[in-house]
Amino acid sequence: MERKYNFNPGPGVLPLPALERAAQALIDFEGTGLGILETSHRSKEFTVVIDAATERLRRLLGIPDDYDIGYFQGGANLQFSMLAMNFLPSDGAADYVDTGTWSSRAIQAAGYVGKANVVASTKEEKYQRVPRWDEVTWNETAAYAHITSNNTIYGTQFQSFPDTGKVPLICDMSSDFLSRRIDVSRFAMIYAGAQKNVGPAGVTLVIMRKDMLDRCPDTLPPMLNYSKFLAKKSTYNTPPVFSIFMVGEVLRWVEENGGLDTVEKNNDKKAGLLYGLMDEDPDFFRGTAKADSRSKMNVTMRLPSEDLEKAFLAEAAEKGFVGLKGHRSVGGIRVSIYNAMSVEGVEKLVAFMKSFRKSH
Ligand SMILES: *Cc1c(COP(=O)(O)O)cnc(C)c1O
Repeated sequence: MERKYNFNPGPGVLPLPALERAAQALIDFEGTGLGILETSHRSKEFTVVIDAATERLRRLLGIPDDYDIGYFQGGANLQFSMLAMNFLPSDGAADYVDTGTWSSRAIQAAGYVGKANVVASTKEEKYQRVPRWDEVTWNETAAYAHITSNNTIYGTQFQSFPDTGKVPLICDMSSDFLSRRIDVSRFAMIYAGAQKNVGPAGVTLVIMRKDMLDRCPDTLPPMLNYSKFLAKKSTYNTPPVFSIFMVGEVLRWVEENGGLDTVEKNNDKKAGLLYGLMDEDPDFFRGTAKADSRSKMNVTMRLPSEDLEKAFLAEAAEKGFVGLKGHRSVGGIRVSIYNAMSVEGVEKLVAFMKSFRKSH
């Protein structure tokens, strides 16, 4: 069997060693004679899996002790609603930075609960950049401030994080979680759907500063209440056992391959190869993100015509490069280069892009 070069935006490519361990575990998990899908979430074997994943994540990201780590279902989209239900009083307001589709969804969800103030938006500029922090004025009385670190559809990414003073900073990191070193202590809450960079769909990681839990209203039922859900160590109900197992295996792969330093170095290299090629002749592969906002996870571009884009996608697919079509809302080409995409895979794609440019 030949595996293709998978540039899908999400669910995205996963590391082969993690998939191989999963294939084995589907049949016989840890020599128990049961598959992981058939294993109780209360078994000691699974308890070891979830605890080990949590400890690996803590080590890899340097997550301080005053933060809890949780595994939720419902995707990042449930978090859009849930964080507002927990932290936005109905008569209160929260600050939101609008950098594209996903942040707009977060804003929309918060609007059902209280007031979402859009303190900055690059919508007028077609989301081709993220705002500079000196363009944003935060409200001192905001319940929290919400940002999206990487805009999967538009190919933009914040290169730094804002200082919001006493206002808790909450970040949707779905599409660049674990792609670079970050200072977790800058955030009150980080969340990420696993299916972009750390595992399969079905689980969403949440990193929560513990003092935030005092704010969760008692009126919320336990499944929607961070304090109650996290107190049960993400097993208030049956958690997505297999998805959590896979996250653990991906984290193992990251740790065994040099940790975040190596991940970050490789991601810089991959993005550098693509942007380098685009900059050689900006009229052919025309980047859609402004240079200072370029994402190292999703590299977006247009070709001189839609016909050429179609031809590009077709020829790429023939050569085994898949998942390169831009989001249906923006068109064009999008190269998603998550952690599990190798430098070699990007080198091969870049070689193909060069030859395509030459022949067209
Ligand atoms: C994919 C994505 C989402 C949506 O995630 P779901 O898990 O499908 O709800 C939200 N935010 C960002 C930044 C994303 O890339």
